[in-house]
Amino acid sequence: MSTNEVVLRTLARVIPAINTSDGAGVRLRRSLGSGKDVRLDPFLMLDEFSSDNPGDYIAGFPAHPHRGFETVTYILDGHMRHEDHLGNQGDLQSGGVQWMTAGRGIIHSEMPQQLEGRMRGFQLWINLPATEKMKPAGYRDIQPEEIPVHALPAGGQVKIIAGTLETDDVKITGPIAGLSTDPLYIDVQLPPGASFSLRITRGLNAMAYVFEGQLKLSGADTLLATHSAAVLNDGDVAAFTAAEQGARFLVLAGRPLNEPVAQYGPFVMNTMAEIEQAVRDYQTGRLTA
Ligand code: FE
Repeated sequence: MSTNEVVLRTLARVIPAINTSDGAGVRLRRSLGSGKDVRLDPFLMLDEFSSDNPGDYIAGFPAHPHRGFETVTYILDGHMRHEDHLGNQGDLQSGGVQWMTAGRGIIHSEMPQQLEGRMRGFQLWINLPATEKMKPAGYRDIQPEEIPVHALPAGGQVKIIAGTLETDDVKITGPIAGLSTDPLYIDVQLPPGASFSLRITRGLNAMAYVFEGQLKLSGADTLLATHSAAVLNDGDVAAFTAAEQGARFLVLAGRPLNEPVAQYGPFVMNTMAEIEQAVRDYQTGRLTA
C-alpha cells in the first residue's frame, strides 16, 4: 500500500435536525447540539432557521451572554441587527456572515429587522481551546461581496466563508483563516445529478449539512435527506453527488480540540468550576470586565 493513497471520507453517522425554539421563541432546526454530547469537536451546535412567517422569528434573540466559544451567523435571506455591550452594531444582510468570538464574555442581541418575508440562515457554535476561552471578545461582519464564489465546471457553485476550498482545479481561501481550530465553512449548490469533491485535511473532523434537496455521499447508498447532518469518517477527500432535484449543503470541517467540554446554556468551558465562575461573573456584572 502506498503512503500517498487518497482515502475517501465515508459516512460515519447521520444526525437529523430536530425542531426546537430558542431566544424569544425563534423556531429553528437543530442538528449538532440537539442532545447532550451531540457535537462534532470543535463544533458545538448548528441551528438552521427558515421561515416565511414573521411570528416564527420576529422576537429574535434579545440581550444574552456568551463565554468560551465563537458564534458564526450566516444569513441566506433576511436582515438581522447585532448590538453588543461594547457598543458594536452590525447589520447582517442576505449572504452576509458575522463571526463573533465571545472569548471571556460578550452580551449581545441578535434581532431580525424585516417585518415580512423569509428569514433563513444558520448559526454555528465553534469551541475555543482552553488557552483562548478568556481572550477579549471580538467580532467581524463579513459582507456578501467579501465571500469568494467558485463556479463549478459541471454547474452549481461554492461560497467559501472560512478556510480553503481545495479541489482538483482550484485553491481558494475565504475571508476567515488562521484560527486555531482551522475551520472550513463552505456553502455548496449542485444541480441535479452533479458531483463535487474537495480535499479535507486528514485529522480534521468534517460534516455536511443538507438544507435543500437531497445528497449522496460517494460510496454510500443512503440519500441524505434535507435538514440532516452527515458526519464523515477521516480521510483526504470528500465526494458528493446531488439527487435528481439538486442539493444545497454546507461542508464544515475543523481541528478537534480534544478537551473536556462543560456547557451551561450560553457558557462553554472545560470544567464545571469555570461554568460556576461564568455564572457568578454574569450575575455580578463582571462577565465582560
Ligand atoms: Fe448569541
